[in-house]
Amino acid sequence: MTSDVISSKELSKVDPVFGQLSFDNHEQIVFCNDKDTGLKAIIGIHNTVLGPALGGTRMWNYNNEWEALNDVLRLSRGMTFKSAITGLNLGGGKAVIIGDAKTQKTPELMRKFGEFVHSLSGRYITAEDVGMTTEDMDTVREVTPYVTGISESKGGAGNPSPITAYGVFMGMKAAAKIKYGSDILEDKSVFVQGIGHVGESLVEHLMNEGARVTISDINQQRLEQVSSKYGVTIYEGHDIYSEPMDIYAPCALGATINDETIHKLKADIIAGAANNQLADEAKHGRMLQEKNILYAPDFLINAGGIINVYAELENYGKQEIIRKTENIYNTTLEIFEGARQNNVTTNVSALSIAKQRIADRKRDQQK
Ligand code: NAD
Repeated sequence: MTSDVISSKELSKVDPVFGQLSFDNHEQIVFCNDKDTGLKAIIGIHNTVLGPALGGTRMWNYNNEWEALNDVLRLSRGMTFKSAITGLNLGGGKAVIIGDAKTQKTPELMRKFGEFVHSLSGRYITAEDVGMTTEDMDTVREVTPYVTGISESKGGAGNPSPITAYGVFMGMKAAAKIKYGSDILEDKSVFVQGIGHVGESLVEHLMNEGARVTISDINQQRLEQVSSKYGVTIYEGHDIYSEPMDIYAPCALGATINDETIHKLKADIIAGAANNQLADEAKHGRMLQEKNILYAPDFLINAGGIINVYAELENYGKQEIIRKTENIYNTTLEIFEGARQNNVTTNVSALSIAKQRIADRKRDQQK
């Protein structure tokens, strides 16, 4: 979830903001500080060509500010392409709050954060991410309308995680269709890494389809709960990346596909919910292609959550949310086909479609 593979030493070698490795022509970066509540947050607005920058707020105990900045830059950029490829009229943004969500999050801190969001007059709209709950968004809603992911009782679309999991499941099925000629996942061995909000829901879909599921998590209690609820196997080994498996579903951390892991991976398919799975998009995307591992781009298949919160802005209901999320299946097939035709990685194929949509809109706006 943090910038796992880029050391803070590396990050601090370059210019503080515009020179960061993850800076990709972001429009605006806002540093928020409040002494009274202890709030230290960074809001990253990557691109607003398609609409207001929408993306969740992550609260995480970063080792230092470089890591937090790097994370918000990577995540906000990802949101731009996620919304673009999903056909939503939204730009890309994200926020991080530096601190331990379990011990440092208070309603006062969340309200103060909401005031900073409000000061941007709707250029950035927030939602929940790791370390945040629907109730936290309800608190933010007390001070600003520029928030989504609020509870259903308050007119929101509720918890986005089950929808995200459904979209990941759709993307995984599309990958199976290409790899095995059938999108039925029965008897396929699927390794779900991280069985939090999204991971658990994904496990449920996979079990309903008859897949053979193995789970891992750093939280032993969750492992036992999910294992006994769905009858899935808990991973007992020490190096999941060396395990034989058909499908690897990263649903915890970013950057798990990196120089160290890629050589060991034996999966046919990678399809999971975690953001920024490739530590280095270009390099690791290519390495997967060379190893004939089919990678379903994360920002494409984990878009269910943003589809869910977009409903709050556009006033569409559950049926339309499901329809749009199911469409991830078709878009994933399209991206794979584009990658095959143009002999590029699946990540490049997805990015080029997203970038084209933004470029087209920009051209229209300039007419
Ligand atoms: P979560 O915090 O509910 O779950 C994450 C789980 O991963 C936790 O159970 C945690 O214990 C586990 N974990 C942490 N480190 C781990 C490790 N090293 N190995 C194995 N497990 C580990 O988060 P979530 O909402 O389920 O989201 C999962 C991922 O999907 C995140 O990367 C998030 O950014 C991404 N995502 C979530 C949504 C959504 O709607 N919730 C939408 C898009 C993307």
